[in-house]
Amino acid sequence: MKYPKGDPDDGFGLIVVSAPSGAGKSSLCIRLLERLKDRLALSISTTSRSPRGSERHGVEYFFVSPEEFDQKIRNHEFAEWANVHGNYYGTSKETLARFWADRKHVLLDIDVQGASALFHGFPARTLTVFIAPPSLEILEQRLRGRGTDSEESVQKRMKNAVSEMGRKEEFHRVILNDDFEKAYAELEAEAIRFMDALEGGTWQSPA
Ligand code: ADP
Ligand code: 5GP
Repeated sequence: MKYPKGDPDDGFGLIVVSAPSGAGKSSLCIRLLERLKDRLALSISTTSRSPRGSERHGVEYFFVSPEEFDQKIRNHEFAEWANVHGNYYGTSKETLARFWADRKHVLLDIDVQGASALFHGFPARTLTVFIAPPSLEILEQRLRGRGTDSEESVQKRMKNAVSEMGRKEEFHRVILNDDFEKAYAELEAEAIRFMDALEGGTWQSPA
């Protein structure tokens, strides 16, 4: 079945990348954005959590208070939102519409709940990719090695990792991030295949 063409931005979609925290998702997404910047833009989420380290408003996230986040939910500003590790995170509808109008695909680094919500919201133009760590032990080593999380945060992220790994079969593609270069090559190939097919009107959702 050919993807039905209608609106001028129909040929542009969402590449949603999820993973347990520490699996290497940000490192892979940063490289993908550098390499494919003419075709792909990153959705910056809104969150109720506080900035970590050198994070800046409007760069890593739009940081808002829990009250402001709640108001945005009530104003229907989010294409999806979720509570992750005890904080709220959401994807703005306006961000997606703006990038599509600019004839760009949108890359989203969001959790498994958000990936599922966006696929159900935009089934004909969403590719979901799960980045899997080689093992939970290696995941914990990477989280500790990154050195940005407190012991409590590491524990919470490891607990969540077990349930997130249990949902990986819901994704269209699962990429094992054992060797970084190999994982990156797979991700880039999937992204290019998706964007080419969507723009060419031949994309068939993997279901
Ligand atoms: P996430 O965004 O999934 O939380 P990061 O991209 O921050 O994960 O990666 C977590 C840590 O693991 C970082 O220190 C990163 O450099 C490292 N890392 C990522 N991929 C690999 C890999 N294939 N092998 C070894 N270390 C990796
Ligand atoms: P962190 O606090 O480490 O930046 O992110 C924690 C988790 O929230 C990560 O799994 C990240 O992918 C997810 N996340 C970030 N933005 C969003 C969003 O807009 N929606 C959803 N559902 N998850 C998000």
